[in-house]
Amino acid sequence: MDRAGADAPLHQRRAGSGDGNRGQFVTGPEAGLLERYAQAVGPDRVRRNVPLAPHTTFRIGGPADLFFRARTPEELCLAISAARELGVPSFLLGRGANILVGDKGFRGVVIRCDIRTLEFLPGGRVLAGAGLDTFPDLINATVARGLGGLHHFVGIPSTVGGAVWQNLHFLAPAPARERTMFWDEFMEGATILTPDGAVRRVDTDYFRFGYDYSIIHETGDAVLDVSLKLVPTPIAELRRVIRENLAWRDERHPDMWLYPCAGSIFKKIDGIGAGRLIDECGLKGHAHGAAQIFHKHANIIVNLGGATAAEVMTLIDLARTTVARETGYELEAEIGLVGEF
Ligand SMILES: Cc1cc2nc3c(=O)[nH]c(=O)nc-3n(C[C@H](O)[C@H](O)[C@H](O)COP(=O)(O)OP(=O)(O)OC[C@H]3O[C@@H](n4cnc5c(N)ncnc54)[C@H](O)[C@@H]3O)c2cc1C
Repeated sequence: MDRAGADAPLHQRRAGSGDGNRGQFVTGPEAGLLERYAQAVGPDRVRRNVPLAPHTTFRIGGPADLFFRARTPEELCLAISAARELGVPSFLLGRGANILVGDKGFRGVVIRCDIRTLEFLPGGRVLAGAGLDTFPDLINATVARGLGGLHHFVGIPSTVGGAVWQNLHFLAPAPARERTMFWDEFMEGATILTPDGAVRRVDTDYFRFGYDYSIIHETGDAVLDVSLKLVPTPIAELRRVIRENLAWRDERHPDMWLYPCAGSIFKKIDGIGAGRLIDECGLKGHAHGAAQIFHKHANIIVNLGGATAAEVMTLIDLARTTVARETGYELEAEIGLVGEF
């Protein structure tokens, strides 16, 4: 879970985050340094002391010193490069659907990737900006043109960049659902900004995709856009899968508006399932403050209204220690911990 720990590239380093240093106070950058950063990227474009909760699906998290919304690849490169050059800690934010932000917020700059370009090319090819929402925007647009592939990921909150980071996945269509479908099956390549400031075009192999994994966990590359190759499919067939997938999700997953959450908290344990282990330990429905282990799905923690990151962390620790004691399995968090806790 040290995705943004001490060894991580600067733009994804998280002050006070990760298992190793949770709770430890990390001194933030000086006001003068933050001001220099604001001057470098445009003072009128930077917001100060911005609560992060509304920028996450968990609706939890304290303020960022600075918040910058990058609307073009050039703005994203500038925002990341300026942070690196000045030594201002930064975090690259997508839809905020796979993170828990600490109650004390983030010392440095949070850069929201908001590149929402979308271009349709011949042969089922699509070029999508990294900040575009996969659902509903990208999926609706591709389905309307009879292009299949991404429709399997209906109902999952993500940006295109976040989908690459984690190799977005979902069970194959009903009725069989005998395999998991992954984002990389439809990807041809991407434009990335490397940590040394180079903009490169790379193919899918570069990412060494796995389950909940791509190489950018290690490299710290930022994704600027992604090219996809989709499959011409009758629209009625796409809509059938969409209906079935949404119904399947409705039965098992929280309604995001009623129960804000960050999806699965712990990584998959092959053949067993983290949720099943937590359930077997009798923790389903267990609450601490306004945070609760979801009553229908024990690998999801929901915010019942006004939950704090500290309350969520208590439940994470409880699940981990109880499962280890009762079953011998070690649960590993899938979500990223961002900022100071
Ligand atoms: C209700 C719910 C259901 C979910 N169901 C599923 C599911 O079925 N399958 C599944 O796979 N996931 C699921 N998730 C998890 C989540 O949707 C995915 O992990 C998603 O891809 C996160 O994307 P994001 O844009 O929100 O990324 P964020 O949470 O904003 O960021 C996650 C990581 O991606 C990095 N990142 C974001 N943008 C970029 C970029 N442009 N370049 C480089 N790095 C970047 C961030 O720095 C961070 O480290 C679910 C989440 C919720 C809330």
